[in-house]
Amino acid sequence: MGLTYNTYLNSTKIFGCKNCKTHLADFDEIVSRNFRGQHGKAFLFNTVVNIKQADAMERNMTTGRHVVRDIICKQCNETVGWKYDKAYEQTEKYKEGKYILESELLCTVT
Ligand SMILES: [Zn+2]
Repeated sequence: MGLTYNTYLNSTKIFGCKNCKTHLADFDEIVSRNFRGQHGKAFLFNTVVNIKQADAMERNMTTGRHVVRDIICKQCNETVGWKYDKAYEQTEKYKEGKYILESELLCTVT
């Protein structure tokens, strides 16, 4: 990819990295607020920007077996959540290709 620049979201309500305030996601991209991460409340997003993706790994979660990868803030290398690569349970398939951001690791940028 070479040199990359941060993406700036143009929205009235934006989630940013708590550590460095880099824009991560638009409020309008939230699919569900009913998730729990390692630090408590977490949100499921359609798209997230300014992140790097770690290697995929299998993880057993309360909702079954998934292939996930950690997502890391491009700016400060802080882990901010994870991405669902694959869900094995039919009922969990809607999560594939979507992202989890942990509420505790976010700040609101307006
Ligand atoms: Zn950051």
